[in-house]
Amino acid sequence: MLVTQVVNRVLNSNTWLLTEDNFDAWLVDCGDVDLLQSVLQPNYTVKGVFITHSHFDHIYGLNNLLKIWPRCIVYTNEFGYEALLSDKKNFSRYYEVSFIFEYPENICLLSDEKTVLLYNNVVMSNFSTPGHDPSCICYECCGNLFTGDAYIPDTKPVTNLRGGNKEEYQKSLTLIKERMNSCSFLFPGHGKSFCVNYKF
Ligand SMILES: [Zn+2]
Repeated sequence: MLVTQVVNRVLNSNTWLLTEDNFDAWLVDCGDVDLLQSVLQPNYTVKGVFITHSHFDHIYGLNNLLKIWPRCIVYTNEFGYEALLSDKKNFSRYYEVSFIFEYPENICLLSDEKTVLLYNNVVMSNFSTPGHDPSCICYECCGNLFTGDAYIPDTKPVTNLRGGNKEEYQKSLTLIKERMNSCSFLFPGHGKSFCVNYKF
């Protein structure tokens, strides 16, 4: 499985593009779809998007994405569901352009136990990591850990936005660090990817 970075225009958030040679593509978060298309070969189909949290800089491309791939599934939790449908809860109301997701029937709610089959023998698992926002979910697949804004190495965590919680953040951080022990690469919501557990 190949992981490709797309850096979006709004706040330089990351979309992580997951591909295999069977022409199925998966995303972690979704910003500028034109930038995504510039790195995704046209014969690929985007099957699903895993939302790390529902702040607008991580979701604002979803309507454009669904126009192109209408069967694409959007994975989030119940807090993310609400925020996808509220420009107040996803904070886009306070930014330049209001964003409300127009395809609620494509949303699939995740719980920690639920896994999604991406490719033959390749499964995406998830665990909730509230603290930055109650919609925060980290995803793990083949030793790759996608942390969104719940953990960005060398960056001070943001817990003072509405929905943030310092105590929950500490618990989530412990969980993330535990999971990092069994992972090789970390892909945060902003900035570059990291090699973890590299043995010299
Ligand atoms: Zn955020």
